[in-house]
Amino acid sequence: MPERKPATWWRPTHRISKSVVTTAERTSRGAALEGLSSIRERVRLRKDQRTSLHSWSFHQLGAFIAYKAKRAGVPLVYVDPAYTSRQCCECGHIDRKNRPNQAEFTCNACGVTMHADYNSSRNIAARGAVAWTAGRQSCLPEPA
Ligand SMILES: [Zn+2]
Repeated sequence: MPERKPATWWRPTHRISKSVVTTAERTSRGAALEGLSSIRERVRLRKDQRTSLHSWSFHQLGAFIAYKAKRAGVPLVYVDPAYTSRQCCECGHIDRKNRPNQAEFTCNACGVTMHADYNSSRNIAARGAVAWTAGRQSCLPEPA
């Protein structure tokens, strides 16, 4: 019998995207994702360690979040993905050396240490808040 991909391969992606959207909905918040170029960037940066399935899953997760956020009325913004993994979410310092390895983030300026994915997600969230606020301000009607 040939090996077959199990029929449940997509379930974690659905579960994670649902968790993101329901948490945003419950807490009256929005969600932020890296813009499209991030996928190219990530593929380029991590070509050595990223399989095509992994980048496809990453893309699929973004698509599921977008779909579920729209359905739930949760605001979703896309942010500039540049340096989200190299920038310190505490002090803003950008340095390739802030990433001694794939999992770890250690800021060479302020010394803060945390999981690299957590640092990146905080950068994305902060950029999302800026983009959301800027968008709302630009949409406000002129005072009467
Ligand atoms: Zn720092």
